[in-house]
Amino acid sequence: MITPASTSDSELHHWMGVALDTAKRGVECGEFPFGAAVYEPGGTLIAKACNQVRSTCNPSSHAEVNAIAAAASQVGESDLSPYWLVSTAEPCPMCLGAIALAGIQYVAYGASHAVVKESGYGSLGVSGRELAQQFSSQLFVRGPIRGNECVSFMLNNRKRDLLKRELSSHDHSNSRSSA
Ligand SMILES: [Zn+2]
Repeated sequence: MITPASTSDSELHHWMGVALDTAKRGVECGEFPFGAAVYEPGGTLIAKACNQVRSTCNPSSHAEVNAIAAAASQVGESDLSPYWLVSTAEPCPMCLGAIALAGIQYVAYGASHAVVKESGYGSLGVSGRELAQQFSSQLFVRGPIRGNECVSFMLNNRKRDLLKRELSSHDHSNSRSSA
């Protein structure tokens, strides 16, 4: 019988690719570089989502929360205990709370909490893995999966964001000085 516990690393590797593609599409639409997907252990994709904080002006619109909402709506159940959640970054405390409330027991991540914190994207300073242990001994967090790809994708976007911000503040100071 296929259970979440029997999922192989190569399967998680493939699923992480889908989460990463979702994050890339989000970035193309101007979002922060994070993606997540919910998978049935047999390999069926239930839902995928990117971070939508920018387009919705909603600070809680993280990829994991969006993927959980989409998956629950897809299966018509708020209990997502049979599924895996795969995220390009180690979930923040808010997302881990949503994961626990959805009954999800298996989580895989790409970039670790330490790298997210280092990048300046804001991780609330708590490791998802450590928080998972406090929530439940039945919540398993596996990672990093495709860590290098997820990290370089996130950091490259961070650099681009900072450069854009610098250029736009330069533009503003130019227009101010010329006024
Ligand atoms: Zn989050």
